[in-house]
Amino acid sequence: MAAQSKAGSTRGGAPDVLAHSVRQAISEANSASGKVSLTEDDAAQQAAEAIRLWPAYQLQNTQHSVSKYPQYAQAIPQAIQQAQALAESALAAASVLQGRALLQHEAHDLLAAAGTALPAGTASWNAVLQLAALLGCLRLRSAIAAEEQPRRLFRARPRRRPRCQRCGSGEAQMRRTACAACGRERCAYCEACLGMGRARECGLLVLGAPAASQASPAGAAAAAGPVGPAGTVGAAGAAAGATASATAGAKEFAAVESTANLHTSSGSKMPFAATSASRAERPSYSAAEGRLPPVSERLKHWGLSPAQLEAAGQALSYIERLAGEPDNSASGDALRKTAGSNSSTASEVRGTGTIEERSFLLWAVTGAGKTEMIFPLIESVLLRGGRALVATPRRDVVLELNPRIRKAFPGASVVTLYGGSEQRWEQGSITLATTHQLLRFAGAFELVILDELDAFPYHGDPILHYAAEKSASPAGARVLLSATPPRDMRRAASKGRLPHARVPVRYHRHPLPVPALLRVPAVEEMIRGNRLPVPLHKAITASAARGAQIFLFVQKIRHVNPLVTLLRARFPQLVIDGTSSQDAERADKVVRFRNRDIRLLVTTTILERGVTVPKSDVIILDADGKLFDDASLIQMAGRAGRSADDPRGLVFFCGRERTGAQLSAIRQITAMNKTAFKKGYLLKQQPGKG
Ligand SMILES: [Zn+2]
Ligand SMILES: [Zn+2]
Repeated sequence: MAAQSKAGSTRGGAPDVLAHSVRQAISEANSASGKVSLTEDDAAQQAAEAIRLWPAYQLQNTQHSVSKYPQYAQAIPQAIQQAQALAESALAAASVLQGRALLQHEAHDLLAAAGTALPAGTASWNAVLQLAALLGCLRLRSAIAAEEQPRRLFRARPRRRPRCQRCGSGEAQMRRTACAACGRERCAYCEACLGMGRARECGLLVLGAPAASQASPAGAAAAAGPVGPAGTVGAAGAAAGATASATAGAKEFAAVESTANLHTSSGSKMPFAATSASRAERPSYSAAEGRLPPVSERLKHWGLSPAQLEAAGQALSYIERLAGEPDNSASGDALRKTAGSNSSTASEVRGTGTIEERSFLLWAVTGAGKTEMIFPLIESVLLRGGRALVATPRRDVVLELNPRIRKAFPGASVVTLYGGSEQRWEQGSITLATTHQLLRFAGAFELVILDELDAFPYHGDPILHYAAEKSASPAGARVLLSATPPRDMRRAASKGRLPHARVPVRYHRHPLPVPALLRVPAVEEMIRGNRLPVPLHKAITASAARGAQIFLFVQKIRHVNPLVTLLRARFPQLVIDGTSSQDAERADKVVRFRNRDIRLLVTTTILERGVTVPKSDVIILDADGKLFDDASLIQMAGRAGRSADDPRGLVFFCGRERTGAQLSAIRQITAMNKTAFKKGYLLKQQPGKG
């Protein structure tokens, strides 16, 4: 036990998994010989000697050859040097590739970008990758590999079907073409993830070892020290972390060397180092927990509202419980107490094999201020020496989030990833990425935050679900953010299968505007008859009179321009414009709308999410149409009343009939307002108002 804690305290985060493979090799050697009794301290000693032993092993081979072929005697020192250089490159490559899932050429690009030296006399990175794979610190796979199907009755052999190892797609997504690379007529590639480069049957997928399951207590203590009053990890902390990880890196190499030594000398098969350390062998996080400031203390710095505080506290307790001992109820209870009264919703984690596994849902209404709530979660991971990822469907959100995250964590390295990103091969402690970029990771992050998981393209795309699942490290957690979670997720939450917290109120603590229903003909009819129905005319007049900006949502792109023409004729005093996904000036128009240079903007659902315009009202036409489901209606309604200056925007659902989606949206909005009221989150109403 003493030996374990000693070894634990000297290890950093990264080499943990690799050290685990050393321990596994030792236990294999022990059980094979029946009498040798190695301990972890022996392993550390062996690791220290490993660099010497690897060339010695090569030397032995070479000497054997030399005794047969004395004419090669001069080549011996050179051969040793080359072997050593290759071994060092392989270990450096394994370290760089940790947590990655890359096509062969991507792995080569990453290694080159990381400055890993290709050893002299080695023709290609492939030799380096192959040695690293042989050492058990990364995996090489066919990018499209046959997987065995479950055996069926009356079938002699189980059928093997191709599956994309990067995105998880099955046979339906496979296309076959003549291939210049392998020369075959029907070489399969995956169409589902083609946008991220072609995954071919004859090509390799390079899978790095997953990130360590958790940081060591020593590392956590070092990182926890310099948390300033601003609640950010200071530069000193980052420097300490860098030193720690540098030494950790050195040990990691040694650990792998030791593995190599054991492998070659005993001849036993070395299992892939990726298997997560079993519970008994992990250094317990509860040891570090005493050193981390209490949850309530850490939450103070971020200026959160009471509703944000409670939800963030629950999420924080959940991810830290996952990172520690999952069934250590003592520490769990302590965390729960500090987190607030309502944490009983965070039920135990169940291995359902879905996105819900190891996940926490932050169900926050539109305008709740979810970005502020993820700050303490990211801080927790940084304090524990881990890496955090924030994935969001849209590139502009990544770009918008970047300065805010950098400001909140000035000491941390932040990497932004999206199609065409310049930081493509960089590694940071915080990664901001579009959802598709997750495909390039496997087991990389202690915390994966999925923003707007119900939105396109994430919602309904199985490859992104697959990517989100595999991107988290074995002991990592996922936090799902949504104002409108899909129905199955809402059900899982209400049945207690999905730990979650609701934020039922906006950051300004006013209730959400409840939509009013207006009976109005279809847009098609208005355009055909060149008529604006009276209720709609009245609504626009009232909004314009109170000086509000007006979002006017339509279902179809072809309705935008005719409607703009119609409205301009009726409201000559208002500046009216329209936009859609096909509008090249879209971004510019949104800016002009925000600056009140445009007062009424006719738009499709492209502005359904993510756009915040102070003092605005929302009118949704054809609200009974098929394209608008309850989530879409709630999101559009969520554009109104977002600023503290004008928290009571107006929302109208216009259509010929009331649909289930409209009523469901109104019901959900009203329910959130009720919860907010009951919990005392709403500001006391000022006399004379409302
Ligand atoms: Zn694929
Ligand atoms: Zn091929």
